Amino acid sequence: MTKFVVTPADVAQRDAWAGGAIPEVEQVRPGLWSVPVPIPVNPLRYVLVYVLELPGGVAIIDAGWNTDEAYDALVAGLAVAGYAITDVKGVLVTHIHPDHYGLAGRVREMSGAWIALHPADARLVRERYDDAAIDSLVERERELLRRCGVPALTLDELAGASMMIRHMVTMARPDRLVEDGDELKLPGWDLRAVWTPGHSPGHLCFVSPARRVLFSGDHVLAKITPMVAVHPQSSRNPLADYLDSLAAVRKLDVDEVLPAHEYRFLELAERVDSVMAHHDERLAEIERAVAALDGAACWDLATRLTWSRPWETIPPFMRRAANNETLAHLAWLEARARVRRVAGEPDLWFPA
Ligand SMILES: [Zn+2]
Ligand SMILES: [Zn+2]
Repeated sequence: MTKFVVTPADVAQRDAWAGGAIPEVEQVRPGLWSVPVPIPVNPLRYVLVYVLELPGGVAIIDAGWNTDEAYDALVAGLAVAGYAITDVKGVLVTHIHPDHYGLAGRVREMSGAWIALHPADARLVRERYDDAAIDSLVERERELLRRCGVPALTLDELAGASMMIRHMVTMARPDRLVEDGDELKLPGWDLRAVWTPGHSPGHLCFVSPARRVLFSGDHVLAKITPMVAVHPQSSRNPLADYLDSLAAVRKLDVDEVLPAHEYRFLELAERVDSVMAHHDERLAEIERAVAALDGAACWDLATRLTWSRPWETIPPFMRRAANNETLAHLAWLEARARVRRVAGEPDLWFPA
């Protein structure tokens, strides 16, 4: 295979991101396209769906949010690449968040494509999107927040904060389960799955050694760090999972990272190092806060940390995320015996 020269196209994507625009549909490599699909009411604005050409059709990596606007953008993007929605043979989903997974069911309906997911995220599908199971999920979230010391008045608002977006996700069951190291066996592609739990328990990246690209989903992004939080569907120590997963992809020998948001970029190892450094700083800040307060609940610690804006101006949905992210860092410190949890109503955190 002739080595594809990386064009400055990544600059165009970055400029579009920086300018608040939706980037163009781009041919990233021969036989590989990137299609921005808009996300409603979200500062990320779009998810980048990757279109992989196959003999007689395409596979896509991620699908987009389940809205008409997103569906139309996907169809239009496929048309730029010379394909119709009916040409989609498979949907590889990096993880079950609605901006990636939401539209997968509709794509399957239109094309008969299979949907692939890691088993750890497939397990969450029913609970996350099934009406019968959702009450128990909300109840467990409420219990978690209560143990964090969230004031009673705010509990209802916070526990149900993600329910309003649920109806935008169709409950599609995956047809294929993809495990760590699995070869996807797409004709013309040497695509291998890399299980990267942390942001989601079943998050998958996909690497093509021949094309020297990494499809990184939400695992590694150019500017933002993905949310890693303790929640009812997470592991006990998702930050440890995440940092291990970062170390796993850092070793990959690729020329370019193709993420699901923002823009594509070249320096995988450097970006991984800076994300790791960010979490080190955050862990140190939280450890200092635990020492200073000497017996505080997670919520009280969260309100005292530095965030991108003053705590009072953070909306409820984001406050819950902030709390659960703080808890992920506390759980990591606890596992390393750097802080100590005293279980109670609420749990209190002390220096080790
Ligand atoms: Zn995500
Ligand atoms: Zn995302």
